[in-house]
Amino acid sequence: MKERNANVSGRDWDTDSESLTEEEIGRDVRKIMNNGRGRPPYPDRQEGRGRRIDEINRTVYTDEGLSSYETPRRELTKEDKKRLQKQEREERRIRRRINAPYTFISYAFVLVFLMLIGYLVYFNIYERDSIQNSPYNKRQDSQTRYVTRGSITAADGTVLAETHIDESGKESRYYPYGNEFAHVVGYDTNGKAGLESVCNYDLLASHYNIIDRVTNEFTGQKNPGDTVVSTLSVTLQDTAYSALGEHRGAVVVIDPKTGDVLAMVSKPDFNPNTIASDWNDIISVNTNSQLVNRAVSGLYPPGSTFKIVTALSYFQKNASFADFSFDCTGILENSGHTVHCFDQTAHGQEDFEMAFANSCNCAFSQIGLDVGADALRSTAESLLFNQSLPCLLGGKKSSYALKASEGSAAMMQTAFGQGDTLVTPYHMALIVSAIANDGILMKPRFVKRVESVDGNVVMKNNPENYRTLMTRTEADQMKNLMEKVVTDGTGSGLYTDWYSAAGKTGSAEYRREDGETGTHSWFVGFSNVDDPDIVVAVIAEDAGAGSTTAVPIAREIFNSYYSS
Ligand SMILES: [Zn+2]
Repeated sequence: MKERNANVSGRDWDTDSESLTEEEIGRDVRKIMNNGRGRPPYPDRQEGRGRRIDEINRTVYTDEGLSSYETPRRELTKEDKKRLQKQEREERRIRRRINAPYTFISYAFVLVFLMLIGYLVYFNIYERDSIQNSPYNKRQDSQTRYVTRGSITAADGTVLAETHIDESGKESRYYPYGNEFAHVVGYDTNGKAGLESVCNYDLLASHYNIIDRVTNEFTGQKNPGDTVVSTLSVTLQDTAYSALGEHRGAVVVIDPKTGDVLAMVSKPDFNPNTIASDWNDIISVNTNSQLVNRAVSGLYPPGSTFKIVTALSYFQKNASFADFSFDCTGILENSGHTVHCFDQTAHGQEDFEMAFANSCNCAFSQIGLDVGADALRSTAESLLFNQSLPCLLGGKKSSYALKASEGSAAMMQTAFGQGDTLVTPYHMALIVSAIANDGILMKPRFVKRVESVDGNVVMKNNPENYRTLMTRTEADQMKNLMEKVVTDGTGSGLYTDWYSAAGKTGSAEYRREDGETGTHSWFVGFSNVDDPDIVVAVIAEDAGAGSTTAVPIAREIFNSYYSS
């Protein structure tokens, strides 16, 4: 009896194999092998690839002796291999082309991801403090509900700003020294300024004893904010404020070895205790911009204090002052342009030191012409002209504008501090600080540390180098020139047996609002020349020659430093 079964090919056949011819069996087996389609398995997915697989299959089938699928068995020739390699290369090329958009998108995503990581790192390292401290950061103001604003003190702990709380619990800010620290300490009403602004985050943070803090939070009481300990000296600020007197202008005192800002006065000023009620008067038109901190934001013609820059440029070019000599007649003419020495004084025969000590405009016009506009610009920019200065309180950039194309008249004017150059008193103090500190400018510090109200240090600013502005040799040369100003020149008002001093005076001409020419009185310098203690920069607006107004103000500050 014969059983009929369904076979894999879907065709019925008789189980009695003897009834099938050899040819029939061969055909059925091939069909099974070929998936019933009468040709080798693996459909051509891609033309090139399919062809290659066919080739391999043919070889296999002939090995198995399946003679009806006829491809002659043969070894791959060199040409075949080359052709196969070429095909593979072609396949790879096509694959790359097909995958190109996906590759592009993948790289784009990786790039965007890396940029995002980069921004987060940048934000956390460089922008965090400014965002946290920004007076526009509303999150800080919400802290005032939980924290009583902390105090700002001088370096010795004397309170400069604190919060008073009356019996009804109302808070008010109190400034024991009134106008004296107005610009540097700032205010916290009608906006924020000074340290009150830039240290806002610290003043509204509390690192008070943790147990008391938690207790206060549970009982709904405010915690005391942290204390900002500034670098300011009450004695020097007090002296500088008094010495500047009724003059408009600014005084900056810096410790050149640490970068500590010891005093910063600006006039006209205001009383931060009554700023809310005085606000309309203060911002009215004719109040001489009393909110402006002239020390960091007042741009003035440098006058002869700029001779420091010109002298340094000359030394950098010639490596010596020894070859210079000049015969001053009080007036110098060049290319139809005339310059005068102050009061048209004829200084006579001078070497470089005496030209600097006499503050001889004629000699420095000649020096400027010798140095050239490009070299002078290079020196000025190495001393931070046309750049943002390191300053916690912000402030303006000084500008050096002279171009080589402007000709000799502009060159002569610029070389002795007139022309279009503008500086801030703070910037001049930084240049002199670098000279006093062997060429190295320390990063200026306004804040020594932040501590909790119970005295634990939360943050400490250590002195650090900011930049080397000149070599030690150059700094020594500048020190010598500036010392001669005090021993033999326009700064002789500072000469004393008590301490040594060095500096440069300036009498900077400017155009008054009434069209007349006025003169700002400048002095920049330092005391204890061999081992400098303090740097002082003074400008008294429209106050005449540097030697008559600014030098006596500086003397009071030096005296105060050495008598305390
Ligand atoms: Zn002269």
